[in-house]
Amino acid sequence: MKQGLNSKVLSVLEDKIQLIRTEKGAIYLVGPIKLPVNLYGETVEFKWYCWLNCDEVTEDFERIIDKLSSSNLAELQQSSVLVYGDFEYGEDAIIRMHSICHTGDIFGSKRCDCGYQLKKSMKMIQEHGTGSLFYLANHEGRGIGLFSKAMAYVLQENGYDTVEANEGLGFVDDSRNYSDAIQVLKAIRQKPVTLMTNNPKKLNALKEAGLKVSGRQPLWGDISEYNEKYLQTKINKSGHLEEDEGACPND
Ligand SMILES: [Zn+2]
Repeated sequence: MKQGLNSKVLSVLEDKIQLIRTEKGAIYLVGPIKLPVNLYGETVEFKWYCWLNCDEVTEDFERIIDKLSSSNLAELQQSSVLVYGDFEYGEDAIIRMHSICHTGDIFGSKRCDCGYQLKKSMKMIQEHGTGSLFYLANHEGRGIGLFSKAMAYVLQENGYDTVEANEGLGFVDDSRNYSDAIQVLKAIRQKPVTLMTNNPKKLNALKEAGLKVSGRQPLWGDISEYNEKYLQTKINKSGHLEEDEGACPND
């Protein structure tokens, strides 16, 4: 039989875990954890939290920790959030809800400007003084998943635009959901936030989901010959604002 957790491990972790009750069950939030980050050659200290969705709702964290080693979490993706400055109490904080982009964030793909936006938003948070970056792991390819995104890229190489490709594969254009992120945000900050985005639909979706928004900050991207068409589709079909309206077409 598997041995229970040793009490020292539990006592260390207990203080760093928070239960957030949701409609579907629970979110367990762990953190803050010190995370020094290399940001354009400078070391910047963020605080990091990660969360896990669970059907089981309990404040007995030993039960949750006990399940981890058999849960195969590496096969799933967990989301997380980087926090900078006095995020809980600071008057004016800016946040970014960043959708995971394996090709853009990790490989630096030029087919989109996600990787650029990721780093840029971290820099803007640092310059602003306080804020947070939510990295949403279930948002790959606007919620269609990495493998489907690869299929969509094949279609795009054959003349489809982003929206047509996703729809051609049977997906709605944008199936991202922000409710978990908003629940986590509420657990770490009560005051309103300024949202970094160029996408008015995203701003509205977040407001409707209960986010207290005090404003919007555009986030200009990295335009090149490789992503021009993708960015133009965002403006034409997905309601993103153009540059001369004070916003970048991506996200
Ligand atoms: Zn991307």
